[in-house]
Amino acid sequence: MPHLEAPDRRIWLDGRLVPWAEATVHVLSHSHARGSLVFDYMSVNETPRGPAIFRLADHVARFLHSAELVGLPLERGAEELIRACKEAVRANPGAAVVKLHAYLPSVEIDVVPADDHVAVAIAAFHPRKDVLAHKPGPLPRTPETVRIWLEKERRQRRPDIMHPHAKVAANYTSPMAAKWQARKRGYDEVLLVDERGFVAEGPTTNFFLVDTEGTLRTPPEESVLLGVTRRSILAIAEADGIPFVEEPITEAALFGAAEAFLTGTSAGVWPIASVDDRTIGSVCPGPVSLGLRRHFKEVVAGKDPAFASWLSYVNE
Ligand code: PMP
Repeated sequence: MPHLEAPDRRIWLDGRLVPWAEATVHVLSHSHARGSLVFDYMSVNETPRGPAIFRLADHVARFLHSAELVGLPLERGAEELIRACKEAVRANPGAAVVKLHAYLPSVEIDVVPADDHVAVAIAAFHPRKDVLAHKPGPLPRTPETVRIWLEKERRQRRPDIMHPHAKVAANYTSPMAAKWQARKRGYDEVLLVDERGFVAEGPTTNFFLVDTEGTLRTPPEESVLLGVTRRSILAIAEADGIPFVEEPITEAALFGAAEAFLTGTSAGVWPIASVDDRTIGSVCPGPVSLGLRRHFKEVVAGKDPAFASWLSYVNE
């Protein structure tokens, strides 16, 4: 198996910029062994005013909330983290994403760490050029539209375990298992259901449908991660005069939809072609998905002054 070549990037680690290859943890570290690492992931976009991080303050707020839900005693506040994310992007020209992490680097025996120092690491990089390009085989292709498998048995999104609002490594274990199953069955992606069997979200995306009346519908906040793209799409829909509701979504509503799509920092607006091999709607991508995708792309690129406050320019 070829080794991952270290890209020429620097990682912001507890206030210092260190080479990519040096940003490591011990195999017995608490975060590695217990899945206690919390993180957030945001996009960096080229704009006429230089690189801008999309909704940086909102991502940092969600990150702090994740740490709170898990009980990590984070020593840094929002303002410092915002400054540090911008510094990490400035130090890594061409970065397309910023990943912010808080973790317990200490080697621990007990589930409750004896040394509770929470390290903060911020990686600003380009996923395809810096990571995927170094993997064996051809670069993976992202299809324009997505073929979904609906995971119905395990009821992944349960607020009575670790809440879906916490972006903590441990919360990605069952989605990973489900997505692996979906891939083995020939699908691109998986949709998870909540404890009552309502459609919830994908492993790293939120879910929307457009019903036959043209209303946008998305599951309510309590059963999903509070996606920044989800919230942005709702605001853009409002600006575009598209009616929307946040309510539990049944399987029947999904199969009867005119359009459906996933949203996320990496996925943007990703139209769903089929679920369990049944096509959704009569045309994919449908007109509402396409309109929202176009408008969202303009917003992240700083081309819509109505949403200018969502961009944090790293060089200003
Ligand atoms: N749900 C889950 C479980 C996720 O991990 C993500 C990715 N952060 C999303 C939804 C989409 O969130 P966002 O739009 O903030 O990327």
